[in-house]
Amino acid sequence: MKLSDIRTALREIPLSPAKTLGQNFLHDQNLARWIVDQAQITPADYVVEIGPGLGALTRFILEKGARVLAIEKDARLANFLRAHFGHERLEVLNNDALKFDPRALFAHRQVKLLGNLPYNISSALLLNFLEQPSSISLWLLTLQKEVAMRLSASPSTHDYGALTLRVQLHHRVKYLRSVRATVFFPQPDVDSAVVRILPRDPLELPARDDELLLKLIRTGFSQRRKQLRKLLRTRVSDWDRVASHLDINPKARAEELSLLQWIDLTNFIAPLPRPDTRLTKIEHFPIVDKNDRILGYASRSQVHGNNLLHRAVHILIFDEAGDVYLQQRSRWKDRHPLKWDSSAAGHVAASESYDETARRELKEELGVSVPLQKFLKLPGALRTDHEFIWLYRGVVSGELVPDKCEIETGTFLAPTVVDGWTSARPEDFAPGFLECWKAYRRKTPSRS
Ligand code: SAM
Repeated sequence: MKLSDIRTALREIPLSPAKTLGQNFLHDQNLARWIVDQAQITPADYVVEIGPGLGALTRFILEKGARVLAIEKDARLANFLRAHFGHERLEVLNNDALKFDPRALFAHRQVKLLGNLPYNISSALLLNFLEQPSSISLWLLTLQKEVAMRLSASPSTHDYGALTLRVQLHHRVKYLRSVRATVFFPQPDVDSAVVRILPRDPLELPARDDELLLKLIRTGFSQRRKQLRKLLRTRVSDWDRVASHLDINPKARAEELSLLQWIDLTNFIAPLPRPDTRLTKIEHFPIVDKNDRILGYASRSQVHGNNLLHRAVHILIFDEAGDVYLQQRSRWKDRHPLKWDSSAAGHVAASESYDETARRELKEELGVSVPLQKFLKLPGALRTDHEFIWLYRGVVSGELVPDKCEIETGTFLAPTVVDGWTSARPEDFAPGFLECWKAYRRKTPSRS
């Protein structure tokens, strides 16, 4: 949009730009086109645009053939967009983007997020949409230059801090270019910058306890000028030995540690238990006939190597709002690592009934014991990995305590979102879960 068009539109609406809503409209069309080009949008993309304003970016995103969800807090601008861009591929949501739950985006195949963010809440917005786990494959954002520099900073620089590490833990951030305040109307007080954020491959960094890692980082940066030796005294009593073991300067301050060193430190303080693969290999399971009658017993590797029919349970755990917990299988699993799966699942062991296995797996994997309803049974077949599966369901009211050795991450999702996700990207899931979910939804189709 040219400056003259912006002035005309604002007069027509009428709207006098509000500082509280960060209403600074981009009038450099070449820059708008360049920003959108950096997202490499294709017709297969579902693009979420935060704060579309008068549509400076929206127009170019639509030109790429993508579907667009534009979230605009100001009702007058939302109405303006509907009137001027009435397009079958554009949905305008008149809402506060801070209240938008990004988990809904799992229902779409390829999600990208764009926005010239309102300055006053850009960090909060960023953290809402960078929440993990996420289905967003690219973020292309214009932010205050100072925030952009913090996001993309390297160790031992002024801008490197807790926000840098929090974002870089799961993402790679690239500072693309600075943007002068003069390209906006009205002109903001500070310059901006465009950053591109991409999700990291989960295997790029060592496994660790993220919760502890973020706690250590917060403590470390709570007093920037103080040495870590003092700040982390209660966690690490023998700092000199630990520092030398991890190749850290014993006098280091928080800003001197790279992300990898923070992870090493976390794993030194609380090493993640790795599953013992020798033990899992010698586990014994009942093998069964086509009527699920026990024929004998075989080791895990014999069962899987020879496609013998055997028994398993899957458990779907719901919260009180009716959302179901899905887990992402640990990177260390021998079958389907990092695929998404039921809340808990496992093989029936040699001496166990289905019910006993369900109770054990729930306790082991999610740290809870709740009443379980035996819901449906799937026959052993190729598509269930030769497992007879009893599917159970239960409801939790408190917190789950996922076993970090078995589960990479997890989240509660609305069943309709799971429907969308399983049909948009079935390759994200363990095959047994897909069968369980299909069967479950056949029996509960109307539940949201
Ligand atoms: N994208 C437009 C452009 O580049 O010209 C407008 C960008 S302007 C910096 C920020 C936009 O975000 C404004 O349209 C403002 O009304 C909107 N906005 C402010 N707070 C918001 C919020 N919490 N949720 C959604 N939109 C918001």
